[in-house]
Amino acid sequence: MPELPEVETYRRYIEASSLGQTIEQFTCEDPRKLLLNDLDEINNRLNGAVFEATYRVGKHLFVRTNLDDWLYMHFGMTGDLGYFHRDEPPPRHARMIFYFTNGYRLGFICPRKFERVGLVADPAAFLAQKGVAPDVMEITPTVFFDHLRRKKSAIKTVLLDQSVVAGIGNWIADDVLFRAKIHPEIPASALEETEKMRIFEAMRYIVQTTIDVEANYLLLPDDFILHARGWGKPHLAGKCPCGKGEILMSRVGGRATYFCGLCQSKK
Ligand SMILES: [Zn+2]
Repeated sequence: MPELPEVETYRRYIEASSLGQTIEQFTCEDPRKLLLNDLDEINNRLNGAVFEATYRVGKHLFVRTNLDDWLYMHFGMTGDLGYFHRDEPPPRHARMIFYFTNGYRLGFICPRKFERVGLVADPAAFLAQKGVAPDVMEITPTVFFDHLRRKKSAIKTVLLDQSVVAGIGNWIADDVLFRAKIHPEIPASALEETEKMRIFEAMRYIVQTTIDVEANYLLLPDDFILHARGWGKPHLAGKCPCGKGEILMSRVGGRATYFCGLCQSKK
């Protein structure tokens, strides 16, 4: 699933490829499933407009036009983007396409049709209605700690709750807790202040580091527990970066959770 670092990479991709481009048409091969609004309505607003700015909160991406419309994009399970010239074939599964007057096109790649596009009047109001908390890179320690104090669920579950902090997905939560040396099943409300601060700092570090490598897992540092899942560097699969502890897998809140029995003891 595209996590925050992937969506941030898509945001930068749009900025680099499509800002300043005049839109002449938008097409969608399954409007009822993929669009939040009517296809004609989207075309009425977008045709002749120019993409001017981007904005991201968690995994939610918005692109503003010169007419002050906001286009919402959500990448679902497998969404991606591809910018291409009209002389080239569109990327596979580019089910939605923005046509620009310069001959280039931005394809929204939707292999499994879990992706969404739509016009929203105001991103802040849209996110508030969805109950989305501030982005992980924006939230303050005070607000974050206050949430933890009031939640009795396992800390892993609380980190995944988008109404607490936006943008932490499953593997990121595991790496945050590994770096902070916190067992994933400890109730959030039972954490000490120093532990909360370790989690807060680890959240920013893990997300920023992953953004810096454009979400290329093979380039992540060796001390990420993600490699133990077998998703990153193959020679680190199944091992704790500490070199001694055993990698354990359990289900926390129904989600597969990887941690080190030695580095993240329950006390
Ligand atoms: Zn370990």
